[in-house]
Amino acid sequence: MEFDVHQDNKDSSHYAIDLRQSGLGLPDRNYYLKNDDVQIKGIQKAYQLHIEKMLSMAGETNASDAAGAIMETETALARVQWDSVDRRNVLKRYNKVTLDQLNAQMPAYDLLGFLRALGIADRINYVILSEPSYFAGLSKLVEETPLATWKSYLRWQTLNSYAPFLSARFVDENFAFNDTTLNGIPQPEPRSKRGIDLVTSTLGEALGKIYVAEYFSPKSQEKADQLVRNILITYKQSIDSLDWMSPATKEEAQKKLAAIVPKVGSPTKWRDYSSLVLGRHDLVGNIMRANDFNNRYYLDKLGQPVDRSLWDMSPMTPQTVDSYYNPGTNDFILTAAILQPPFFHPTADDAVNYGAIGALIGHEISHAFDDRSSNYDEKGNLRNWWTDEDHIRFNEKKSALIKEYSAISPTAGYFVNGEQTVSENIADNAGLSVACRAYETSLHGKASPVIDGFTGEQRFYMAYARMWQNKTREKALIEWMETNVHSPAQVRGYITVQNQAGFYDAFDVKQGDPMFLAPSSRVSIW
Ligand SMILES: [Zn+2]
Repeated sequence: MEFDVHQDNKDSSHYAIDLRQSGLGLPDRNYYLKNDDVQIKGIQKAYQLHIEKMLSMAGETNASDAAGAIMETETALARVQWDSVDRRNVLKRYNKVTLDQLNAQMPAYDLLGFLRALGIADRINYVILSEPSYFAGLSKLVEETPLATWKSYLRWQTLNSYAPFLSARFVDENFAFNDTTLNGIPQPEPRSKRGIDLVTSTLGEALGKIYVAEYFSPKSQEKADQLVRNILITYKQSIDSLDWMSPATKEEAQKKLAAIVPKVGSPTKWRDYSSLVLGRHDLVGNIMRANDFNNRYYLDKLGQPVDRSLWDMSPMTPQTVDSYYNPGTNDFILTAAILQPPFFHPTADDAVNYGAIGALIGHEISHAFDDRSSNYDEKGNLRNWWTDEDHIRFNEKKSALIKEYSAISPTAGYFVNGEQTVSENIADNAGLSVACRAYETSLHGKASPVIDGFTGEQRFYMAYARMWQNKTREKALIEWMETNVHSPAQVRGYITVQNQAGFYDAFDVKQGDPMFLAPSSRVSIW
């Protein structure tokens, strides 16, 4: 079980705590349950051996039996966990339980006592149980599993979380399994890079403040803000011409669009880390104190007023190359680090900036208007603001995209999970289309300039494809497809453009060309 503090999905002016399923050492429940897959069977065996090795290095006398029992326990946990499709369903995951009813959800464990130990039981009246059937299942497991197995399991979980920071043989064995076996990575990153990652994950904004001062110019800020403004204006115009949204819903959509808060570059307020105690010769102790400090930071928010200006509810740091839309706060983040090539450059050709970062900005904004966000209103509260007809018309497009992506096999024997990735595929489709329109608007009716023999429209799509250039090892690609809600990068670069009418015009793509898709098979949402 893990916990997370964020704005209450049905009352975004208050913070709430979620209790969620967790506790697996492999990346997803599928890794325990897909017994018909040879690759995954092999990983299961290797994982059990890995547990055994780690435990015996840590001094466990009967490591082989313990590893077997741990594997059985994790498999039993996987069986009662929700799958990735259900976990994306925000309505199913919103299960408010008052404190006096909490222990009835998991009779074999004192959940209320757990909240008391965290020091928050007197500041909240309820928790959100994300996956109630998981807690009921876990309760049975608590009863059925011998105490000795739980002790081994917890010893293993602790060892596993701190393995990258222990002495070299633990670091090496941890790397051999989690990176080489699971992802095919032959060598660890240099120590300096691992150090930076560690500082980012524990003291993210402290490092972010230095990063932004050094690498994010006011010129980048100004140009990125301008792109965001133009794409928001294009959305405003596009809402009225949507063929699947009813007039009443369009009015709601305009309200929601006007309320979106863009957060570009870096936070306006930085976190204060001054009370965190760090020692020069105590790596694991430092990490434990930092984890505790960060948990405490979030737990302390319970009962406090919501501050919408913060970045930390995502959480994402300015030095992370990423972007994010949060339906619970109706805001989106573009980090300083994503505002660099191949995504963006303050003095780059407009076609390139619109095709790359513009499409990503469009992607994030479109998340405010997809079927998941149809459950979140402009304040970030769970309220369905679509009509039944909107859902029906949208679902037709959605089904077509699910079908289209499910047929794609980026590596032999594995197909994209069209359902698991559909929200992100919709956002790619919408984002690219709106960015294209925003670029056309920026030309004010003039033809786009030709540079190096390419028209602006051609450079726009080339910049989009370049953004997804990527090299992935087969194992990492398989793990990605099992666990990630985004399609693999090469699929995003290729399939998204095939659905865009503008792409056919820009390159004069005709029937018989490899990327040609019949107009009736193209899916257009925005
Ligand atoms: Zn997205």
